[in-house]
Amino acid sequence: MPTPISKDGRKKFFTNDIMLWNQQGNKRIMPWKGEKDPYKIWISEIILQQTRVAQGLLYYHNFITQFPTLKTLAEAEDNAVFKMWEGLGYYSRCKNILITARHISNNLHGRFPDTYDEILGLKGIGPYTAAAISSFAYGLPHAVVDGNVFRVLARYFGETLAIDSEKGKLYFTGLANEVLYKSDAASYNQAIMDFGATICKPQIAECQECILQKNCSAYKNGLVNKLPIKEKKLQKSRRWFYYFIFLCNNSVLINKRKEKDIWQNLHEFYLYEYEKPIDWTHDAINRWLKEQLGIKKYRLLQLSEKFHQQLTHQLLQGQFIVIDLKVIPVSLKHLECIKVLDLELLAFPKLINNYLQAYPLKRQKNELITKK
Ligand code: SF4
Repeated sequence: MPTPISKDGRKKFFTNDIMLWNQQGNKRIMPWKGEKDPYKIWISEIILQQTRVAQGLLYYHNFITQFPTLKTLAEAEDNAVFKMWEGLGYYSRCKNILITARHISNNLHGRFPDTYDEILGLKGIGPYTAAAISSFAYGLPHAVVDGNVFRVLARYFGETLAIDSEKGKLYFTGLANEVLYKSDAASYNQAIMDFGATICKPQIAECQECILQKNCSAYKNGLVNKLPIKEKKLQKSRRWFYYFIFLCNNSVLINKRKEKDIWQNLHEFYLYEYEKPIDWTHDAINRWLKEQLGIKKYRLLQLSEKFHQQLTHQLLQGQFIVIDLKVIPVSLKHLECIKVLDLELLAFPKLINNYLQAYPLKRQKNELITKK
């Protein structure tokens, strides 16, 4: 009977096999692989944290084409950067990118920090991104740790600690740093990220073609679909957004979101958010406009169908009500009035963009379009 391998022995096998797989089996192509410019690594990592790779590649390419250096980003107008980010979601990350680029440009002589702790101290950069930048750009021995890495480790070592518990996070971070191939942290980190994305995948792990199979605890014990363990189930809340699009002589009223909620710094139309769905009728709209905003004279141009957007923790439903006004009432004077044609220069959330694609405002004539 073969002697069981010790845990330390399995750690060595793990590291060697990940590096071997990287040399022989890793076919994942990414434009930033081998990139040494910390600025480009930073942008690619932040973009990839919030979207699928295929979509992320396009955003990365466009972003780097428009802002090829940290200096060009630091000097850019906020709106131009948010417009570039439009559709990616997590707009606070875009805001943090701008703050950090300007901080480095103004206070650090434009030089990107080159130690893990300094990089981690930058606004919007957490341990994962700090490890990615410091290992890829400077070869420093810090392991990338995220849900993908935790999943691979939990399965291979058969660990049942919840990966999202405080104890679990500490444990898996320690383990990730123990099995890091320190003399080439850049290749190792890239390899484990690629391995998690293409072989040890969340839903269907490709165990039959995995070279780590012979020492993988989850595989040997039939636990691949049970690991990793998660403590919390994602709770999604529901929200109902009713957008009043007030048009007045080829102009439209808009608002820039400032609250620390979703979509900070993006634009929107006048928003009425309610805690449950509203079945709008023409009478209900009439009453609401009179009572809430003191509007008596108007033309209703459209009551749209419902649009939906799913965020990580929230399910959103939006409906759009287009109102034509002769004059802008005092109750709406706090909003910005812009030309309808200029709407395309501003960044909007996906929910609104989906509506604008279905019903471009400049094409809306005088007819009434009712919900389907
Ligand atoms: S054998 Fe399966 S579960 Fe184990 S590391 Fe490979 S892909 Fe992941």
